[in-house]
Amino acid sequence: MPLQEILEAEFDVPASIDNDANAAALGEHRFGAGLGYENLLYITVSTGVGGGWILNGQIWHGSEGMAGEIGHTVVDPNGPACTCGKRGCLERLAAGLYIARRAREWLETQPGQGQVLRRLINDDLEAVTAQLVSQAAEQGDDLAWEVLEIAGWALGVGIGNAANLVNPQRFILGGGVTKAGGRYWEVVRRAARETAMPEVHFDVVPADLGDDAPLWGAAVLAENCLRPPRFIQSARF
Ligand SMILES: [Zn+2]
Repeated sequence: MPLQEILEAEFDVPASIDNDANAAALGEHRFGAGLGYENLLYITVSTGVGGGWILNGQIWHGSEGMAGEIGHTVVDPNGPACTCGKRGCLERLAAGLYIARRAREWLETQPGQGQVLRRLINDDLEAVTAQLVSQAAEQGDDLAWEVLEIAGWALGVGIGNAANLVNPQRFILGGGVTKAGGRYWEVVRRAARETAMPEVHFDVVPADLGDDAPLWGAAVLAENCLRPPRFIQSARF
């Protein structure tokens, strides 16, 4: 759908559109944890996993607008089947939806385990969410922690691979799952470090702007619309 043209025709002003992960990357780059970093990957880990690149200070869309789909990079070729048709995608292992699903399956098949989590959900398996899994893990539930550890490992492996391939300075992680606590972050950072080459340097930090990151990014997109393109600006001098 030609959304940009529709908006421009309707409101009679220049319009710019982008997906939420790219907009969030732009927001964090300009106003948040990416301030001062020209090369970064923003990753949102919530029900799914999405990503947006900022390279040389600009959104990098790729040749078809598909850049940043880190959620469907494969971290375990023998892993579970993903909705995209492949196996062991990062999203299939690290996203909130699948954290909850794995915890549910393990609670079903391991009767004596996960007592804290079982209490939190009142023994109602349908009530399992990623948030409750991380809450249970924080309270010392081994089953919940193991589920979360797999998720953190998968995310870290994806980050390490992306670091090797593109060599950004910083990875910024947002989305509900990344609120899982220090132990989860340790696993993510360790797996990323172990996957990347020793010569490849980067850091992995939490997002600053939370759920508002795409809105801040949209403001930047609007601002860019009102500015003449760079080559015209530089041609003046
Ligand atoms: Zn996939």
